[in-house]
Amino acid sequence: MTVRELAGRVSGVVLGPGDEGYAAEVAGFNQVVEHRPVMVVGVRDAGEVRRAVAFAAETGTPTAVQATGHGPSRVAEGVGLLINTRRMTKVLVDPVARVARVEAGARWEQVVEAAAVYGLAPLNGSSPLVGVVGYTLGGGLALLSRAYGFAADHVTSVEVVTPDGRPRTATAQQNTDLFWALRGGKGNFGVVTAIEFGLVAVPCFYGGGLFFPGESAAEVLHAWRLWTRSVPQEMASSLALLRMPDLEAVPQFLRGRLVVHVRVAHLGPGDEGERLVGPLREITPVLVDTLAEMPYRRFAEIHNDPTFPIPYEERSTMLRELGRGAADDLLRLAGPGSGCTDIMVELRHMGGALSRPPSVPSAVDHRDAAFCLSTLGLPGPRPAHVVDAMAHRGTGRSYLNFLAGPGTAQLAERGYSPAAYARLGEIKARYDPDNLFRFNHNIPPRAKSF
Ligand SMILES: Cc1cc2nc3c(=O)[nH]c(=O)nc-3n(C[C@H](O)[C@H](O)[C@H](O)COP(=O)(O)OP(=O)(O)OC[C@H]3O[C@@H](n4cnc5c(N)ncnc54)[C@H](O)[C@@H]3O)c2cc1C
Repeated sequence: MTVRELAGRVSGVVLGPGDEGYAAEVAGFNQVVEHRPVMVVGVRDAGEVRRAVAFAAETGTPTAVQATGHGPSRVAEGVGLLINTRRMTKVLVDPVARVARVEAGARWEQVVEAAAVYGLAPLNGSSPLVGVVGYTLGGGLALLSRAYGFAADHVTSVEVVTPDGRPRTATAQQNTDLFWALRGGKGNFGVVTAIEFGLVAVPCFYGGGLFFPGESAAEVLHAWRLWTRSVPQEMASSLALLRMPDLEAVPQFLRGRLVVHVRVAHLGPGDEGERLVGPLREITPVLVDTLAEMPYRRFAEIHNDPTFPIPYEERSTMLRELGRGAADDLLRLAGPGSGCTDIMVELRHMGGALSRPPSVPSAVDHRDAAFCLSTLGLPGPRPAHVVDAMAHRGTGRSYLNFLAGPGTAQLAERGYSPAAYARLGEIKARYDPDNLFRFNHNIPPRAKSF
């Protein structure tokens, strides 16, 4: 299959290496790995996706999908077709039904803005720039997840072009196996062109963060983990050990030193939030305190995720508990004097609605996790890999959305229970027997076990 043949089928931009615009078309947020396919197509609607996938199916071309490039795993290099969905950005909010219909290339900032007009919010994560579809297909650990569960639990309909080039709609009543697999199985089952999901009411919101000096890491971590045991499910928080580079773009108080950042997202009024965070403020003097009642549309100020492309490798493991021993292990690996080089070692408090099964079962696991531990750093040798060294404290599972960069594609199996992984493999065999969609957290097709 050639660039010219594909260009004859779709009206969107079709480019090959060497063509002007190719580098911009394949570029993504994570600069550590980048797709370098034989051809890239920039699609503008579901019809173009269908024609591109049909062409790939007819010619047996392995196919990758990218919206923003926040979560690449295995990339297409010197082979295959990349379908870039970033131009498909329509977002529709129905305030009466409290649902949003969102196209493949939309980012969270758009949905939050559109929903906030009606006092509603989606189950978005920490960054406004992450793509809605890629995030949701991986589960979606949201700022409001302790109150409402994973984002995938709220999906009501998925429009997808399966690897045979056919458009299908998956819901709780239609293509039910596909509906189960798409919610958690990430990009293995074709190109999702749009999803529909429920929104939640956010009448008032309290959030922000406390920054503590790195020397207080032990005090802060122990106090925070004990505090999480007492808070209601409306109170979500995370703790990050940050080692930001000594660069001008980084705020002075964070530059080139270890800082502990406790982030808070509370679904409730300001006075309640103030009362609940009281014990955190008393741990030890803070460097900076940004906690306040705020409109939910300002959610990006809680984590302050980077807004410009950077290179990183991300790994994760779910922890069953965070007792004194586990916290001390983590401090030895990533605390002051540990020699840890990761830019961020993060613990997110799970539990609450995250531990309850969804009304319509999905492939998303982790209902038994108390904390999600993840690391973000440059690839390369480390004194010890924090995630690997802490894995024995874990549930044995990784969170797929926090696996990015070289070497993470083959870790997909760790995202699921053995039974869920086997079922995903069987559904993959039905929809993608030749594993054309392999540039992802790949689930190889497997024969049905009887
Ligand atoms: C700064 C930052 C903050 C983050 N915060 C959170 C968070 O709070 N909670 C959380 O759960 N995750 C979070 N993530 C992880 C994020 O959800 C994943 O990286 C997700 O895969 C990003 O999706 P994307 O479309 O933006 O990225 P892309 O790299 O474009 O896509 C990633 C993968 O998703 C799949 N995919 C994307 N679009 C489609 C489609 N239309 N059809 C089929 N497959 C598709 C493909 O397999 C693709 O390889 C964060 C990541 C970063 C870098």
